[in-house]
Amino acid sequence: KAKETSRAGFIAYNAQLGHDYVQHIHLKKRLKTAIQDKTFVNYYQPKVNLATRAIASGEVLIRWRDKHGKFVPPSDFIPIAERTGMINEVGHLVHDNICNDLNLIRNFNRCNHVLAINASVHELRDPNYVDHLLDCTQACGLPPKQFEIEVTESTFLDEDYITHNNLKRLQKQGFSLALDDFGTGYSSLSYLKKIQFDTIKIDRSFVQNIHLCPKNREITTSLIKLFHTMGCKVVAEGVEDIAEAHVLRDLDCDFAQGFLYAKPMGINQYTQYLDCSPLPPPPFFYEI
Ligand code: C2E
Ligand code: MG
Ligand code: MG
Ligand code: MG
Repeated sequence: KAKETSRAGFIAYNAQLGHDYVQHIHLKKRLKTAIQDKTFVNYYQPKVNLATRAIASGEVLIRWRDKHGKFVPPSDFIPIAERTGMINEVGHLVHDNICNDLNLIRNFNRCNHVLAINASVHELRDPNYVDHLLDCTQACGLPPKQFEIEVTESTFLDEDYITHNNLKRLQKQGFSLALDDFGTGYSSLSYLKKIQFDTIKIDRSFVQNIHLCPKNREITTSLIKLFHTMGCKVVAEGVEDIAEAHVLRDLDCDFAQGFLYAKPMGINQYTQYLDCSPLPPPPFFYEI
């Protein structure tokens, strides 16, 4: 923050800056304790097959339960975890939890259920990233094909050798790769030539009001065609409205994810939710 406001090495001190700094230090301390105490929970959000309404996979979204029992959203702590390097440890905790949870899901007769894990730029720059993931999955007896790793376009902003190596290794080991938040990353498209993604997730900003907004519809139509030509499956993110889902289905989009179907939920609710697959025809409301 200070860097942004500095000119020629001078930082104009103001009360807000001081306040932000104190908040930052405070949060950093609490995050450190949270990692030690492992007070993170994995939440899960289903991805729905638009043609069959089956749920074949879900995404893990981390939640931090603070000492008052309140949930701190990832947008509040992931950036700080990234800046301080603590994201690697946070990621490891997610991996540990996800393997236990996937075994639980498999006990409920969902043997082929796939779970997607978010990996930030910083995690992928860690040379031990793949080894840790493999240790976890092997310890739980889970095959890599039941996991998908979601990366964002920012992963490719600078050509990092370790990152590229990690992505290639993940694929070689049998993990699927997904490109998250497509269209928001200010990145060139050249990385699409280097990595063959299994799935591309079109960002919510293009999906929102697609039934009302011709521009969103035009962009999404072309993107789906392009990605299908490239052999990728397409997920629409942030589907909130049944009308959006209908347009996406008519455009041949493969999967949808969003509050229309379910908000992210704890593992027990998630296994119950999976019992509803394939979802009944719309209007469909699932209350937990
Ligand atoms: P993401 O991977 O793009 O995840 C989608 C986000 O959109 C989630 O927010 C989800 O709750 C939210 N969402 C889903 N459907 C809808 C909808 O219909 N409408 C709206 N308005 N939002 C919807 P969440 O859980 O707060 O996560 C935010 C971001 O934090 C994620 O974006 C991801 O980049 C990051 N994140 C979450 N969990 C992890 C993790 O375990 N590791 C890492 N490195 N990053 C994570
Ligand atoms: Mg994601
Ligand atoms: Mg996303
Ligand atoms: Mg995102």
